Amino acid sequence: MMHEDQERYVIALDVGGTVLKGALTGQDNEPLYQVRRATSGSGDQAAVTAGVLDFAAELYGTGLARFGRPPSAAGVAVPGIVDERAGVAVYSANLGWRDLPLRRLVSERLDGIPVGLGHDVRAGGLAEGRLGAGAGQERFLFIALGTGIAGAIGIGGAVDPGAHGGAGEIGHVVVRPGGTRCGCGQQGCLETVASAAAIGRAWAAASATPGATAADAARAVVAGDPRAESLWREAVDGLADGLLTAVSLLDPGAVIVGGGLAEAGETLLAPLRVALAAKATFQPLPTIVPAALGDAAGCLGAGLLAWDHCKLPMSAEVSP
Ligand SMILES: [Zn+2]
Repeated sequence: MMHEDQERYVIALDVGGTVLKGALTGQDNEPLYQVRRATSGSGDQAAVTAGVLDFAAELYGTGLARFGRPPSAAGVAVPGIVDERAGVAVYSANLGWRDLPLRRLVSERLDGIPVGLGHDVRAGGLAEGRLGAGAGQERFLFIALGTGIAGAIGIGGAVDPGAHGGAGEIGHVVVRPGGTRCGCGQQGCLETVASAAAIGRAWAAASATPGATAADAARAVVAGDPRAESLWREAVDGLADGLLTAVSLLDPGAVIVGGGLAEAGETLLAPLRVALAAKATFQPLPTIVPAALGDAAGCLGAGLLAWDHCKLPMSAEVSP
């Protein structure tokens, strides 16, 4: 139990296209307070930003009221393209953001406290790597299988953003040259083959059930439907091709599989391990494990960004 008048805490904020998740987090990374809001502004940069800043200010006020002191820092995880070093949300189609200096804006709104800005999937990967499924692994690959496919590369307990904030985009590794056109403009990207959206579309077509989802496909696989087994096998095969490329480049100790599709559990992971092992020739195989933190990962990761950003000693005490 935290001594409310002695310990430090941070604000963690996970900005999604539909939901804002906020928390006040103590030095053991346990959320002390959690709250959600709908994302306001529907794609209008100024309106969405105002909603995020108001939410941050509300968390700040809650912290002051509960603990009698300001938070030591804030961490903010956002989707899209993020320049973490510059603290800029470079682009998000859902939020309508372009070149938004969000780190500065949040800090200004919160009386100048240090703010860490990060990419949502990389923040989630950071949390999985340190606190969740990858605990103890120095090198890991986190892969989120959802509407799209995104990834985060963990090295030495931190997630590497790349030189331009673009590292980890395994969803746009081409696994089927000349295949289905991807939203990025390329053809045959991994996310056109093995995202939850792609599997849902394939199962909707195969089963003549408009609106069928990847979860429906997984249930049909478990039930032994041969049409579902066939398209599932193709998706797993594509995913193994993408992972083989990643494994060849990164040699991770663990691959942590998250996102909505990961809810299929061993229905996905068991054949994935077999397919990757069959394709590997010389590559050492990583363990393939399910993500452990669910949709709390982004907010937990934002809290880690906050602690990392101000480089606070984890056990230091400060006087009021
Ligand atoms: Zn693509």
